[in-house]
Amino acid sequence: MLKYDRVYNFSAGPSTLPVPVLEEIRDEMLNYQGSGMCVMEMSHRSKVFQGIVDQAEADLRELMKIPENYKVLFIQGGATLQFAMIPLNLMKNGVADYIVTGNWSNKAYNEAKRFGQINLVASSKDKNYSYIPDVSDLPISEDADYVYICENETIHGTTYQQLPNTKGKTLVSDQSSMFLSRPCNVSDYGLIYGGVQKNVGPAGLAIVIIRDDLIRTDLDEKIPTYLRYHIHADAGSMYNTPNCWAIYVCGKVFKYLKDLGGLEAMNQMNLEKAQPLYDFLDNSKMFRGTVEKKDRSLMNVPFVTESPEMDAQVVAATKAAGFDNLKGHKSVGGLRASIYNAMPKEGVEALVEFLKDFEAKHG
Ligand SMILES: *Cc1c(COP(=O)(O)O)cnc(C)c1O
Repeated sequence: MLKYDRVYNFSAGPSTLPVPVLEEIRDEMLNYQGSGMCVMEMSHRSKVFQGIVDQAEADLRELMKIPENYKVLFIQGGATLQFAMIPLNLMKNGVADYIVTGNWSNKAYNEAKRFGQINLVASSKDKNYSYIPDVSDLPISEDADYVYICENETIHGTTYQQLPNTKGKTLVSDQSSMFLSRPCNVSDYGLIYGGVQKNVGPAGLAIVIIRDDLIRTDLDEKIPTYLRYHIHADAGSMYNTPNCWAIYVCGKVFKYLKDLGGLEAMNQMNLEKAQPLYDFLDNSKMFRGTVEKKDRSLMNVPFVTESPEMDAQVVAATKAAGFDNLKGHKSVGGLRASIYNAMPKEGVEALVEFLKDFEAKHG
């Protein structure tokens, strides 16, 4: 049994958090560092909470080596609200190019269509989004305000190994399910964002990292106040009451990642962690991964057996054995192991042992 009777939680999101972080939060629950109150009970205008936000931002900047000319914004509404905020704030010409590689980029694409001329410049729909298309020479629109990608498709399990050649246009990336899982050269992007509940914290918060010159004030008057980046930037993410609790937890995770050695170290751990699972899938006669090898995600690993009935049987058996949330998303079927930063290597190794055993018995 794991400590506190926990299970290995392979949920795609909200998902597992590091136990030392949860323990620290537990210890601070009733009285945060001598303030006499829980962070949930604290005014967002208090000095103590301002300290929490400032430290979280400073630690994130250090982890990602975010250049001075980028702002870090903490915005509610999850990643989904960004599907609208991005076109509303970034479109000057009313044109943007989207690369659709799965459910999440497809949702963003469809939302953006409400606001302008949105061009689909590449897609992997022909093979149920099981690969990343060649993005080295795309038909980028002359007047595109930005090029949009979802850098790690959480449901389909694909990751970009190489960023698209945007031919000088601003790159916008949804990094929700890979945020802080590997080093990231922020200057390659105009805007990076992520819902935090996949890799860094509780649901209900998006972190937006945006280059200064993209924070425009000359927006259409009809654009609601809350959906303007400049409002959030000018108010230090406190235009209204922010998701204080989520910011606090994310801050703890940033500290934890720094203590582990930062993003290079995290990437190394993630590589070593995913390897046994992919090795198993490549050698199994019963299970197979659904993604082209070159585009495989280190965070989300979808795999299938030969039949939905057998898939269901495996899911039930894993659950009974203490491996939770392995059922695949309905659009891919089968199983999916989300093995984010906080999933320990032992969890993946134990799962592989279990699947090997299952195959030996039922294969
Ligand atoms: C989960 C997810 C989203 C949506 O996040 P919400 O916070 O639920 O809005 C968007 N993009 C990706 C890649 C995701 O994994």
